[in-house]
Amino acid sequence: MDYTVSHYIDGRIVTGGHGTSPVFNPSTGEQIGQTELADAAIVDQAVAAAKLAFESWSQSSLGRRTAVLFAFRELLAANTRELAEIVTREHGKVVSDAAGEVGRALDVVEFACGIPQLLKGEYTMQASTDLDVYSFREPLGVCVGVTPFNFPVMCPMWMAPVAIACGNTFVLKPAKADPSASLFIADLWAKAGLPDGVFNVVQGDRHTVAALETHPDVRALSFVGSTPVGRELHDIGTAHGKRVQALCGAKNHGVVLADADLDFAASNAVASAFGAAGERCMALPVIAVVDEVADDFLASVVEKAKAIKVADGMTPDADMGAIITRADRDRIEATITQAEAAGARVVLDGRGYHPDGHENGFWTGPTILDHVTTDMRAYVEEIFGPVLVVLRVRDLDEGIALIRANPYGNGAAIFTSSGEAARRFVRSIPVGMIGVNVPIPVPVAYHSFGGWQDSFIGETHIYGPEGVKFFTQAKVVSQRWTQPAATFHFAGASQTTS
Ligand code: NAD
Repeated sequence: MDYTVSHYIDGRIVTGGHGTSPVFNPSTGEQIGQTELADAAIVDQAVAAAKLAFESWSQSSLGRRTAVLFAFRELLAANTRELAEIVTREHGKVVSDAAGEVGRALDVVEFACGIPQLLKGEYTMQASTDLDVYSFREPLGVCVGVTPFNFPVMCPMWMAPVAIACGNTFVLKPAKADPSASLFIADLWAKAGLPDGVFNVVQGDRHTVAALETHPDVRALSFVGSTPVGRELHDIGTAHGKRVQALCGAKNHGVVLADADLDFAASNAVASAFGAAGERCMALPVIAVVDEVADDFLASVVEKAKAIKVADGMTPDADMGAIITRADRDRIEATITQAEAAGARVVLDGRGYHPDGHENGFWTGPTILDHVTTDMRAYVEEIFGPVLVVLRVRDLDEGIALIRANPYGNGAAIFTSSGEAARRFVRSIPVGMIGVNVPIPVPVAYHSFGGWQDSFIGETHIYGPEGVKFFTQAKVVSQRWTQPAATFHFAGASQTTS
């Protein structure tokens, strides 16, 4: 198989750009296709189509918009398996996990189906004599999404359904390593009855993003990816007058206390560290376990991690698949080697592993590093691979101190049976999403998603009520249908309070 993934603008495929980037099947290491990289001219074409479509889509009734969203929801659900296989082929994660990603996308679409309720404004009758005031929110215009490789369905769907439901038009710039899901989604939008130009896709790289973040007709930028890129996009975007939300990198900690159900905590630590080969921003790649139970906990974690079936993502009972690129695999394994040299104990070693018959794929097996210290690269850097880093702490306070000293603040979890300890944990850490006996605390779609500190740059989190706020701007109307005498001093509404 060898295919080329192009752009989708105004309801049709558009080809061209400033070059191509290879698409691999990470399980086999084979190049299976290439992504075209949009240049400034193609970005102009996409933004122009979105700008034109905004004129009518922003005026469409809420009933019309929700009819499209409901139809899109049905199509997305009906095509879950096909979409999941597209993701697995280019990303390497197992199909069941890719289907779970589509499930999380569906949650946001369902939330967006309720947009009439979410856009209800506020009305004040008789704010002054015969004067009523009402406020409501209007769409912005052309909104852009720049998304990472690790969730090629979920991350775009954190943005586009909400933006579109609010009356905006959208240009998506997916990751170049796994671009095909974006075109499949574009086709589903078209089948759902979304007018041409409302949802567009430009494939590309940093040059494509540079054209989007400086484009005068783009009103808002939603970004999900690494912190350095998010910070730069935020700075450039805001300097060019755009609203920006940048969801960035992470190093989530799980704290295991002595009163936790250790078997439950170990199972969840393993599932959240090694699911999707650790390529999740809400994974738990760091466990801080109290000394008292550390040896027992770790023995259980190692036993469970050894039972993980690492195989081609298409294998029906596979638990964990391949790594996105060869370069990432090499970087991950070098980080393990560096930690070992610095004194960490490699209690489970996935270096050099590959399933039979997949010698050329991009593989690392589940790896567990014990006695890691905060100065090691394996602790400081986001590994974004199947590596669980274990630190031993004296007590809850030391676990909290560790999290407080870390620059990231996306997610964190505590495993305990003490309500008092959990409450103190929740109140003490500078983290946006916290789990209490919940390892991956991704909020449901009617709450919003976002981190703190270096894990988020901007003001308004994504999807849920914050997403609606991000994709709309407020308008307030003061109206009177009687004609009192005009006054010449500036007193606003109070001029008629007599
Ligand atoms: P990345 O930052 O390399 O890329 C993200 C997007 O930015 C891609 O579309 C890419 O093409 C584009 N890009 C890359 N370099 C660029 C540059 N120099 N200028 C402009 N655009 C550029 O991230 P990734 O490797 O695709 O994804 C992994 C990262 O995403 C991890 O750091 C992970 O924690 C993060 N992530 C965060 C969340 C969250 O919700 N906070 C969710 C998923 C992933």
